[in-house]
Amino acid sequence: PPRQGMTPAYIALGSNLEQPLRQLQAAVLAIAQLPSSQLARVSSVYRSAAVGPGEQADYLNAVLQLHTALQPAELLAALQAIEQAQGRVRTIRWGARCIDLDIILYGDRQIATSALTIPHAQLQLRNFVLYPLAEIAGPNLVLPDGADIGTLIARCPRGDLVKTRQRLTPQTSVPRDIE
Ligand code: AMP
Repeated sequence: PPRQGMTPAYIALGSNLEQPLRQLQAAVLAIAQLPSSQLARVSSVYRSAAVGPGEQADYLNAVLQLHTALQPAELLAALQAIEQAQGRVRTIRWGARCIDLDIILYGDRQIATSALTIPHAQLQLRNFVLYPLAEIAGPNLVLPDGADIGTLIARCPRGDLVKTRQRLTPQTSVPRDIE
């Protein structure tokens, strides 16, 4: 369980550009080093065909659980800094990207601002988020609106999503004090 003052947050990672596996690994390492945070769990790597315009490489996706004392807006800013550091190229919407980091859940908080929607707005539609989320959260996870993960999974076809044998190197962060 998270230490006092820490909230369990779930973050989805996706990449289909510039050596996607290395992109995911770099992001996991960077997230593990965030202040006032501790990496708790990382899912397997999942592979699926890209949705969007043109020819794109397959996507690799994963979900991790982070225990964090960062507030949601602080966590979003930190994730965006990691995206930029990894050279995300913003060209066309839904186009190819080096790394995409989304906050899926932040404890049982419900947030709807112009910058942040939590739980993530497309959570229920995205097999590449739901399946890895269920892998690390277990079948009993209940969303803030009362929906349980098992029901969401049952309504979201696996499609071409493949759970690979690849694991992101579980480099646990050095425990740090909370500022
Ligand atoms: P995208 O290009 O799909 O990654 O969208 C990025 C934008 O989504 C950012 O400007 C965020 O402010 C916004 N956003 C809204 N909700 C979330 C969330 N739960 N996690 C990450 N970004 C979010």
